[in-house]
Amino acid sequence: MAGEAEKLPAWVTWRRRPFPDANLLLLHGRRPALVDSGFVGHAAETADWVRAHAGDLSLVVNTHWHSDHVGGNALLQAGGAGIAASAPDAGAVARRDPGCCVAEYLDQPVGPYTVDVPLHDGQVLRLGDADWTVVSTPGHTTGHLSLWQPEERLLVVGDALSDYDVGWVNLALDGPGAAATALASLHRLADLRPRSVLPAHGPMPADPGAAFAAAVRRAQRLVDDPAGAVWYGARRIFAFALMIRGGIPAAEVEPYLHARAWLTDAARLLGEAPEALAAELVDGMLGSGAIALREGRLHATADHTPVTPESLRVPYPRAWPAATPAEAAERP
Ligand SMILES: [Zn+2]
Repeated sequence: MAGEAEKLPAWVTWRRRPFPDANLLLLHGRRPALVDSGFVGHAAETADWVRAHAGDLSLVVNTHWHSDHVGGNALLQAGGAGIAASAPDAGAVARRDPGCCVAEYLDQPVGPYTVDVPLHDGQVLRLGDADWTVVSTPGHTTGHLSLWQPEERLLVVGDALSDYDVGWVNLALDGPGAAATALASLHRLADLRPRSVLPAHGPMPADPGAAFAAAVRRAQRLVDDPAGAVWYGARRIFAFALMIRGGIPAAEVEPYLHARAWLTDAARLLGEAPEALAAELVDGMLGSGAIALREGRLHATADHTPVTPESLRVPYPRAWPAATPAEAAERP
């Protein structure tokens, strides 16, 4: 990772983290900013790291509202940082819309926060000492955004792509066109011809052009094969559930899956019974080695950082305390 960091300007600190956390990106300067804030179970560690490397944070920018990107928001906001997020996400967060962060639907906890700075496509944002342009890149979520720094040609892509894949798309919630929307966003990002691509998961691609070419091919497959796209999402959501729970006892896995809205929706899109899909999902992932049975629990096998069960006990957005305008106005 030293090699990756060497390519970045001195005012950028990039830290790669395994699931369930997004990578951390600190932008130093007069307005220290953090892009994405990790999972709620590691919020204290995230806040400590930010303080050690940047002192008082001015702004947190969220590429999108999935739990692995906004989990540190509440703690960092309590410490005085403002939160910036795409305008559609900001509106839903202000309303405490039950769909916020897709937290309840995906069964992924997020601590309550408010958005101080709603962001629009083309908006220029001062982060650290540099100007960044907001690039709306819907697809992985409808409110997903990327950040472009034209002088250094740095591109922060969130979950739009990684060095190894593209973000999963939610055809049930975001409609059958979500994969084509994600593909169009990838073309828009590739056209910027970045020198460095900073993904939210995994390493920085050594060759941004090659990474975009691979991501475009992968996204095209999601467009061409909607059932495959549904399966891809289901595998990612289930693996994440296992990671944040330290595995799930084998006997509880199928009841857990049957009770999930995302699984029921996926089964409907695939024309299967939820019970059949749950069984196929578990069998398929055991077969591929993506999950494994150890000491009576099913675990995700990908590298991930443990989470304490207590840290998952936060309310879903529908039960978050109301976001009052006065509260939001007090923040910078
Ligand atoms: Zn995501």
